[in-house]
Parts: sequence; C-alpha cells; structure tokens
Amino acid sequence: MSEQATRDTVMMSELTWDVYQRRIRDEGAVVFVPVGAVEQHGYHLPLGTDWMMASYVARRAAERLGGIVAPPVTYAARSQVRTGGGPHRCGTTSLDAEVLIGLLANILCELSRHGARRIAVIDGHFENRFFLDEACYRAQRDSALRGAEDLRILKMLYAEKMRPETMERVYAGLDFPGLDLEHGGILETAMMLYCHPELVDLSKIADEPTPDFPPYDVFPANPDWVPASGALSSGRAATREAGKLLVEEFVELVSDAVSAEFGTGK
Ligand code: ZN
Ligand code: MN
Repeated sequence: MSEQATRDTVMMSELTWDVYQRRIRDEGAVVFVPVGAVEQHGYHLPLGTDWMMASYVARRAAERLGGIVAPPVTYAARSQVRTGGGPHRCGTTSLDAEVLIGLLANILCELSRHGARRIAVIDGHFENRFFLDEACYRAQRDSALRGAEDLRILKMLYAEKMRPETMERVYAGLDFPGLDLEHGGILETAMMLYCHPELVDLSKIADEPTPDFPPYDVFPANPDWVPASGALSSGRAATREAGKLLVEEFVELVSDAVSAEFGTGK
C-alpha cells in the first residue's frame, strides 16, 4: 500500500506503525475511541448497533479534524432493563463493570504511551456512562504519574444533545421518549437506515406500546417488563432522511466539541 493510501485513512488499524507514530507525535492528531455495546435492539436492528453508530460518528469527526480512530470497544457495560432491555435476551453480551473500566483505562494508557495527548472517547451505549468516566479518570491519573501530565481526554455520548428543530422533524408530532427509552426506537433506527441500510429490516418492527416501567429495578431482572421484541420504543416512524439529519448533526456536535476543547481546526 502506498504512503498516500495510509495517509488517507483515519483508521488506526489501517495505518502502519510509523505513519501512526508521526500522526500522533509530530502532528498531534486527536485519537478517537468509540465505545458501544453488543446488545439486542429489537427484531429489526443488529446486535452491534451501539458500537457501529459510535464508530461511524467518530470516523466522520476524525475525517473532519484530521484525527485517528482507534478500534472500537465493542463489548461494554451491562444492558439494564429500563434503558437497554436488560441482560436476559440472547445475544446481549455485557462485561462486568470492573472489566470495562480496566479495559478502557488500559487502552487509553497505551495510546498515551504511544504519544497521544488528546483523546476523545465517543460513547454509543447509555449504560456505559459512569464506567467510562472512571476509566478516563484512571488513565489520566496513571499517565500523569508516569510523567504524561499533559494527557487530556474528552468523553461524550455522540447524541449528548439534539437541536429542538431536529427533534421536531425526526419525531414529527410524536413525543421524544428520552434517550433512555430510545433503544431500537426512532433515533437508532433512522441512523442505521442512513449509515447501514443493509442491516435494517423495517418490516420486522413490532407494534408494541412503550413500556411504563416501575420507578425501580429488580435483580434478577423481570423479562416481562420489556416488550417481546426488546425495543423500548417504536422505530416505525424512522426514515433515512431523519437518519441523515441526526447523523450529520451528531458528527457536527462531536467535531465541534473536540475542536473547542482541543483547538483542532476543521
Ligand atoms: Zn442502542
Ligand atoms: Mn445500548
């Protein structure tokens, strides 16, 4: 492969070590780390939806900012009944929290050891939040103890914010259920229709009411709380156009956040 070919890619896995080294040490490239989940998303979306979307948004932001995308953390925090349908459905494959914290902290420390000083962790799975915070905290602390005091890490959900006018267009008269119930719903279905249409089967969307969860959790989880499909809200109103709107907005949200914090040009 030519030098040009490896220069054109933002994917760490597609770079040779020396080009990677130059990009992060000499050019100060921001390294993006997508984090997702392997989790059921109803009958119509694939198990990899969360890590695929986090990876897609991270790649597009990295292309805008001259960054690099590290291989995604695909397995992640345990699916919870009221936010991801819970751990009981076949295919949902979660890590114990301390494994996830250790895994991400290890990856971030390795990137820091390579010379990366600006890292953006892009999250696509609701339940990851505080475990990623802990991993970022530890990586920053441990890098500082090793002499890399200048390591800075940004962490965000790719869907951390949505413009009211986008929400209005995407949900067109329907209520936004909240990101916790947006599991296999309009947002993820629309985004997948735009980014990976071959992996979406709209005909399989079940007609189920949005669950009215009690205000507590139980262990073991009660599978009866979750609609049969596993989706927590209906994705029936999702369109490819809405997906494009959402994806482009989230790419901008992430790019703007990273460039505001790390001062990288567009
Ligand atoms: Zn999801
Ligand atoms: Mn999820």
